[in-house]
Amino acid sequence: MLPVFLMGLDATLDARLAAVLCGVVAVTVGVYITSLPAMRLQIGGTWLGLAVSVLLGGGPDGAILFGLAVMHLLTLVLLPGISLRVVDGIRLQQANAQLAEQLRLHLQTVEEEAATDPLTGVLNRRALDRLLARETDRCEAQGGMVSVLALDLDHFKAVNDTHGHAVGDEALRAFARRIRGPLRQSDHLARVGGEEFIVLLPGAPLSNAHEIAERLRAIVAEAPLVDVPRVAVTVSIGVAAFRPGDGGTDLLARADAAAYEAKRSGRDRVVLAEG
Ligand code: GH3
Ligand code: MG
Ligand code: MG
Repeated sequence: MLPVFLMGLDATLDARLAAVLCGVVAVTVGVYITSLPAMRLQIGGTWLGLAVSVLLGGGPDGAILFGLAVMHLLTLVLLPGISLRVVDGIRLQQANAQLAEQLRLHLQTVEEEAATDPLTGVLNRRALDRLLARETDRCEAQGGMVSVLALDLDHFKAVNDTHGHAVGDEALRAFARRIRGPLRQSDHLARVGGEEFIVLLPGAPLSNAHEIAERLRAIVAEAPLVDVPRVAVTVSIGVAAFRPGDGGTDLLARADAAAYEAKRSGRDRVVLAEG
């Protein structure tokens, strides 16, 4: 508005100067809208400056002063309402962004909880099924390999009967921690029943899976899971490797059958699935 006034009233004013003034006004409007005190201070300062220059015998002529006065009056009257709406809009935007972030974190927590066994913190059955399907699909499509270990703690009922359920729970947590240790980051551990766990070994053929199963069996047997009261248990493990045409259920069933065989033949041992 100021450049328009100036251009209209003083034909000698350069168009480039008017453009510069337009830019200054555009920036000033942004400051004014978000800070009303800054607007009042600048308008007050302008008029103070004008008053001093008039007193000293200079300053712009009456028409310019009139134009400026109209512009400043309009600014003082209209801007607080506009500012209020803009500031409200900014606050709303910030609140929305905060809400979206909270929602994202909440969703992440819900997703993690939905995939986690609450007692041991390892994956649950639902998460395992999803991973198994993904891995068997990948093997089918790309000719890769995946193996599964089915682990069942031996005579675990006796732990509860002797020491109580709380100690049994502690032993299950210790078991999960201990067998997670030697596994790779890309391997998966899930609790699929009371004292039954599954280890999923992407990329591992039967021979590797056999070695890993033997290592896991040994580290469970070598030291008690709980020191006080002393809880020493062993684990029976069935091992199965992917065969073309396998779905996750087929692979699990073969590993389970092998684990059953490990139980039947004396426990604390590893048995490989047929084929
Ligand atoms: P086996 O060597 O044949 O596997 O004998 P087992 O006693 O381990 O097997 P069984 O299936 O007879 O009993 C499993 C026991 O595991 C029953 C129950 O007392 C215990 N159990 C199952 N879930 C939990 C749990 O969440 N916490 C605790 N503390 N114990 C559990
Ligand atoms: Mg069992
Ligand atoms: Mg058992």
